[in-house]
Amino acid sequence: MRTAKAAIYEAPNTPFVIREYPLRPVQAREVLVRVKMSTICRSDIHSYEGRRPNPVPGILGHEIIGIIEELGSGIERDMRGDPLRRGDRITWSEYFFDGDCYYREIHDMPQKCNGVRKYGHDRADVDPHFLGGFAEYCYIVPGTWILKLPDELSDEEATPLNCGVATMVAVTEASAIAIGDTVVVQGLGLLGLYGLALAKARGARFVIGLDSVAARLETAKRFGADLVLDVSRHSASEIVAMVREACKPDGADVCIEVCGVPDVIPQGLQMLRVGGRYTLAGLVNPDAQVTLDANLLVKKWITLRGIHNYHPRHLVQALDFVLSNRRRFPFHEIVDSRFSLQELDLAFKRASERTVLRAAIVP
Ligand SMILES: [Zn+2]
Repeated sequence: MRTAKAAIYEAPNTPFVIREYPLRPVQAREVLVRVKMSTICRSDIHSYEGRRPNPVPGILGHEIIGIIEELGSGIERDMRGDPLRRGDRITWSEYFFDGDCYYREIHDMPQKCNGVRKYGHDRADVDPHFLGGFAEYCYIVPGTWILKLPDELSDEEATPLNCGVATMVAVTEASAIAIGDTVVVQGLGLLGLYGLALAKARGARFVIGLDSVAARLETAKRFGADLVLDVSRHSASEIVAMVREACKPDGADVCIEVCGVPDVIPQGLQMLRVGGRYTLAGLVNPDAQVTLDANLLVKKWITLRGIHNYHPRHLVQALDFVLSNRRRFPFHEIVDSRFSLQELDLAFKRASERTVLRAAIVP
């Protein structure tokens, strides 16, 4: 039987171990892909550091693109209707669910089905073994949305589509950004950079990026930020005052949190105008406690909402957005480093100390 290699996560904060597992023929509605590239998402780092539960032994990684090696019966086309063939380069939804579900049928929220599973969050010692990005192969299983990638997109531009970009398409849609809006983005990691660019593409007039890392503030200007503010150099009340001054006459239309720090929420509320919209998306770990003046929500008519994961339509839109705006924003700069499977420990170290923006693994 054929085998292939994977970098196995055995316990938090311990080195990855390269192991081989069998590659079996695909079953109906499955696809076997050779992993072309996978990137380290912030949530992989949370798993690696033991801040979110992840089964062991496991294969982390859910931002993945791959080349179709075997197509199971019953899979002929991608989610847009384009025919799928051996050798095609594809992306796919980071989550899968096969069956009936109240949230999908009634509320059109397949991403929140009870029992939904995600790539990079499964055991590697049981069939089909390969369900994560940091390996030579990955099985795409029933209940996954598959999308063919056009040749003009580089691997670096295509790999973040199925997590970072699609999530920010969902977040900016939920924020109802309209032509002429002013938008504040709290946190300028990968999500924040795509958030700036998406806000501009959706017609925002003035976009403000907030972060404490100087290099990120510089990068943000190339992703559409009209103003960047270093939150480490000013007090919270100064930042609020500067944002309000820049968003005349009475504060920002939209605020987006993608920094993962609950303490920024009270500041964001103060930056918004009456009737403003506030979307939280970075607080993905439990116990994100914060104290806020709920009277502000009432008096200012604030719409506050959380967004987690994305609808399949956002994956299609993520691809179209990057494809049609790749000359306007330097998306190719976001994935800024490459590592082999054997160098995964080093890649995680660089990613967690933030000396790289997005680390790519090329098996
Ligand atoms: Zn992710």
